[in-house]
Amino acid sequence: MNVVDEQVLRELNLYPLWVRRDVPVQDEPAPVATQTPPPEPLEAPVAKIEATFAKAPPVAEMPCIASIPEVASPDWAALKEKVRDCTACKLRAGCTQTVFGVGDEQADWLFVGEGPGEEEDALGEPFVGQAGKLLDNMLFSIGLKRGDNVYIANVVKCRPPNNRNPEADEIATCMPYLQQQIAHIKPKLIVALGKTAACALLGRDATLGSLRGSLHDYHGIPLLVSFHPAYLLRSPAEKAKAWQDLKAAMAYMR
Ligand code: URA
Repeated sequence: MNVVDEQVLRELNLYPLWVRRDVPVQDEPAPVATQTPPPEPLEAPVAKIEATFAKAPPVAEMPCIASIPEVASPDWAALKEKVRDCTACKLRAGCTQTVFGVGDEQADWLFVGEGPGEEEDALGEPFVGQAGKLLDNMLFSIGLKRGDNVYIANVVKCRPPNNRNPEADEIATCMPYLQQQIAHIKPKLIVALGKTAACALLGRDATLGSLRGSLHDYHGIPLLVSFHPAYLLRSPAEKAKAWQDLKAAMAYMR
């Protein structure tokens, strides 16, 4: 294992490598002085999630509420302008700029967060603060990279004051932009990061725990739910579960 891989795994609380007892260890790392404890027992073993995916019909045959929502779908440049000039809710008055999204506009992977924080507001790009660094490491751990077959967006495009959760009316006002982004990108998988993104996309309220570990359907596009990176920074013990979600996502995409 190279040094970069090791750093990423440490960041995710996954180093030293944790392996199933029945799988022979390859390239086992030498014991290190400052070993972190192994991750907690897994809540949703990958095998179980993989089995769910195996049972899922191909995307084209998935029962869905409708095809991709019938939203006016201006071209990408026009959509960017609309978002940039939007003053439709009260958030715009309190933020520096709108944060549209970043990445590959034909990406297979779409990661959706909640809304910009302070650094995102200053730079105009989603997930560039501490949570963003963790997200980048999470992507790296499954062989992905921001901008390379990956698009990152938020439910709301303007920073809520003091990083509070976006309110229902703000989400409802901003969602058509995300819907249009999705209609344009046509990702093969959406990963909703946190409860706000998951509930906004699925159009219903539910706990994160009840939404993780299943393949959901966003208008014909498979959707997985995992933890928000900011939550993982506050609750590092949950990183092992997030790793399970990522591995399940990889298994699905394979
Ligand atoms: N949290 C989010 O949900 N989105 C960002 O862009 C940054 C932090």
